[in-house]
Amino acid sequence: MTGCQVLRCPNPSADRFVSADSRVTALVCGEHKRALDAGERWDCTGREGSILMGPDLAPALADYLVGGRGNGVTLTIERMDDDHPFSVWLSHAEAARLGELLIAPSGSPPSQGQADPESGRRRRDAR
Ligand SMILES: [Zn+2]
Repeated sequence: MTGCQVLRCPNPSADRFVSADSRVTALVCGEHKRALDAGERWDCTGREGSILMGPDLAPALADYLVGGRGNGVTLTIERMDDDHPFSVWLSHAEAARLGELLIAPSGSPPSQGQADPESGRRRRDAR
């Protein structure tokens, strides 16, 4: 019998989870099937197809601020349960690419000459 595909879950799979956009399918135990169907936060890792939930997920976004009048913008991010917001400076091209990725995370990589040519590679390496 196949095990539940939620990372670190020791239970056997009992049902098939299909994401709302049908791009992710996974065999999961009954408990995780109910949690996923109820809308609990989850993500999916690349190669093994493990489902990440609970403490295996990155902290949720609490708030963010975008500012700057120079030749780029400063993005400040606050995470849930973290008292240490962090900021990054982005060129306008990087900010535009980030915006595209936030809208379509699995979208096609940037075409040549667009934005930062390294951004697509870094994104793939992160998974
Ligand atoms: Zn499970």
